[in-house]
Amino acid sequence: MDVVTPDQIQVLRLLCDTVVPAVDEPGDTDGFWARRATDLGVDRAVLAALAPGQHDAIGALLDVLAGQGFRSAPPVRREQILAALGPPVTPLISLILLLTYGLTDAGGGNPNWARLGYPGPAGPVPPADPPAITPLRPEGDLELDADVVVIGSGAGGGLIAGRLAAAGARVVVLEAGRYHTEADFDQGELAAYRRCYRRGGPTPTADANVTLMAGSGLGGGTVINWTNCIRTTPRVRGQWAGHGLSDIPTLSFDQHLDAVWRELSVTDHCSEFNPAHEAMQRGAAALGWSFATAYRNWDEKRHDPALAGHLGFGDPSGAKRSTLKVYLEPAVTEHGARIVDGCRAERILVEQHRAAGVVGHWTSADGARRATVTVRAPIVVLAAGALESPGVLLRSGIGGPAAGDHLRLHPCTVTLGDYGTDMRGWWGPPQAALVNEFAAAEDGHGFLIESVQYSTGLGASAIPFSTGAGHKQVMAGYRGYASFIGLVRDRGHGRVTLDAAGETTAWYALDDELDVRNSRRAIEAQIRLHHAAGARGVRVLGHGLAPWTAGEDLEAFIARAREIPLRAGGAVLFSAHQMGSCRMGADPATSVADPRGELHDTPGVWIGDGSAFPTASGTNPMITIMALASRTAANISGSARG
Ligand SMILES: Cc1cc2nc3c(=O)[nH]c(=O)nc-3n(C[C@H](O)[C@H](O)[C@H](O)COP(=O)(O)OP(=O)(O)OC[C@H]3O[C@@H](n4cnc5c(N)ncnc54)[C@H](O)[C@@H]3O)c2cc1C
Repeated sequence: MDVVTPDQIQVLRLLCDTVVPAVDEPGDTDGFWARRATDLGVDRAVLAALAPGQHDAIGALLDVLAGQGFRSAPPVRREQILAALGPPVTPLISLILLLTYGLTDAGGGNPNWARLGYPGPAGPVPPADPPAITPLRPEGDLELDADVVVIGSGAGGGLIAGRLAAAGARVVVLEAGRYHTEADFDQGELAAYRRCYRRGGPTPTADANVTLMAGSGLGGGTVINWTNCIRTTPRVRGQWAGHGLSDIPTLSFDQHLDAVWRELSVTDHCSEFNPAHEAMQRGAAALGWSFATAYRNWDEKRHDPALAGHLGFGDPSGAKRSTLKVYLEPAVTEHGARIVDGCRAERILVEQHRAAGVVGHWTSADGARRATVTVRAPIVVLAAGALESPGVLLRSGIGGPAAGDHLRLHPCTVTLGDYGTDMRGWWGPPQAALVNEFAAAEDGHGFLIESVQYSTGLGASAIPFSTGAGHKQVMAGYRGYASFIGLVRDRGHGRVTLDAAGETTAWYALDDELDVRNSRRAIEAQIRLHHAAGARGVRVLGHGLAPWTAGEDLEAFIARAREIPLRAGGAVLFSAHQMGSCRMGADPATSVADPRGELHDTPGVWIGDGSAFPTASGTNPMITIMALASRTAANISGSARG
């Protein structure tokens, strides 16, 4: 049917105002407590946010609510109905919260932000450079000839396209997302998700255990990521040698790391601390834990810490040294590379067991025009990110039994410390520092404690809902919170499969015993860090766990927090680091590509992105992805010459 009926819309409106109700509160000068979700048009925004195919599922969920008497139930009973429904209704509740605190009005603001202490987008914004690239926009079905076709233009694909074009190859890049420049980046959270993120923003794994975030657009994740640069650790380099990548621990890989570091202008001179980072530093000092200022890929001359606070929504200052700026723009302007944005690679063409090119589907930005794009090339670089690269292989029937397996996510638990003072999380780089005391807590696996991009929408939706008034109460204290994450180097793994429509589906259960131990350690360490930094309260983002308040028994709270289930309905888990699903290795039974990066079963197809990692990097992966891609580019050039 794919339409939501008037009855269902009525239930949706009730649901919105159950999640964000009007609450009687004296002294409500800015209307925060009285404002309901529907006062902001959240019901209409929910329907607009749904893809057409999702209307049936939402309609069915609303019918279930109606069947349980939601329409006539008093507010408390409605909350009980939601609690009893549990995980199936959680994504819709999260969407309502995301919109309530993320939507903007015609003036670019949201009336709830005043209470949250968020001043809105920063300014002034310097004038944007004119677009450097003109992507190909097909008038009809298009056939191109090239030496190399690169699928995906993120950390890995963007670098490889740049290197090979500079070496003289005729390169075509197919990118599913769109080309955006500084002029498009208005610092708005929801607009950024629609514009620059895979599937329009944070999306759950199929089992709802982990919320996934990945970039999509020309430059991929490097356009919206948080610019935290960490070199591959000796431990991981040694482990990868055990997978057959014998040069990784040697000087030759150092040269790739050094080149990337230099080309990205990585610096620690633009990592100012906001009060949330100061809290992290204070806590680490009190506990004697190792703490480091972050290095970032950033142009010092264009740096403005106020604008840097919004860089996860696209950097309007032009300071960010993304692969778009560093590799793709010169590839096009100086070396004649051709870019097709809005073009999703469907499958790799294989002739006589070798790569022969790629077929993709192009759609114009307004969705009105479509075309088939065929690129004939003897070399295909697959770099669609670890969530999508296996999909291309599976649709093409190549890659062997490991295609899609060994998906690593660096699953993150999240805590909020309540410091009772304005933490100004929206100011300064989102990741200006980290605690690396526990990076190798056990057997080379451990966790980093880091901070996050300030956001009102995602921040609100990540705080578990149990009652409307309770959630508002938590949001009312938002300006006083510092968010930390505990980012675990996972030993266990998930998998990417294809659904009936040929779309990728990611599955991930955090059930490896070492990962469970480290996630619990990470929760405990975050709590101790907030406590040592002087927080008057600590909240672990997870369902059913009451927060700790100063004066209560901290050890008892830690004991309870360590027991929270690490899955849907328990701890809130995020991943912004997807890796390993088309991994390199010596054994075709457990890896997709050989140790140089070329498919075991299809010569001429190379894996160029984070999906090539043999195991999780344990550090924010961009630098490792790019150094590995630099090595793969050299291997491609070497094999073409040989
Ligand atoms: C919010 C956020 C913050 C982050 N912060 C940091 C950080 O501070 N430091 C760090 O080291 N890492 C960070 N990361 C991670 C880092 O950005 C990613 O690990 C990295 O970008 C992945 O590189 P990749 O080449 O594997 O894929 P991506 O950079 O994700 O690029 C893949 C590209 O392929 C395109 N694509 C997908 N399918 C197709 C298809 N079928 N056809 C054509 N194109 C396709 C996508 O649209 C995308 O543009 C962050 C990630 C996120 C989401």
